[in-house]
Amino acid sequence: MITSVGLSATMNETIDEAWTAFSNALPNVASCVPSVHLTEGTVSGEGDAEYIHNEQRIRVRTSTPSETLRESVIHELAHHADATCGMPTATRAAFLEAQGFSADAAWDCGDAWETTPAEHFAEAIVQIVSGQRSLAQHLVELSPETLDLVREWEADS
Ligand SMILES: [Zn+2]
Repeated sequence: MITSVGLSATMNETIDEAWTAFSNALPNVASCVPSVHLTEGTVSGEGDAEYIHNEQRIRVRTSTPSETLRESVIHELAHHADATCGMPTATRAAFLEAQGFSADAAWDCGDAWETTPAEHFAEAIVQIVSGQRSLAQHLVELSPETLDLVREWEADS
């Protein structure tokens, strides 16, 4: 479930759409994840939104346009799913290999956003949920094996 406070009706509509798309594409994962709360505010970095791990909260940049909000929310929902119902260790290891990371790569941190495994994971979720990506497709390439691993994770969740 997704709840929000302080967002416009238009933003809430887009957020509901993002959640519906997420839970239609990944029903098992969606039923596993605990509620996530959305608030509006200042976001660190360049994105439209960020996931705040210790609060299970997504912060959305004030006045994010609907066109990018949907994709950004799906990306942050992926971080929420990763943090709460993430891939088993063996699947994560296979994911690292499929994306060309070394076996001992740290999941949550890289030299840059686009070299961070957890960001590749979130982008893979966007690809599966939306069938396309428009924000970071030039930064993170996804192998067919990677997308298969995410689908298998959903099937086994
Ligand atoms: Zn991210």
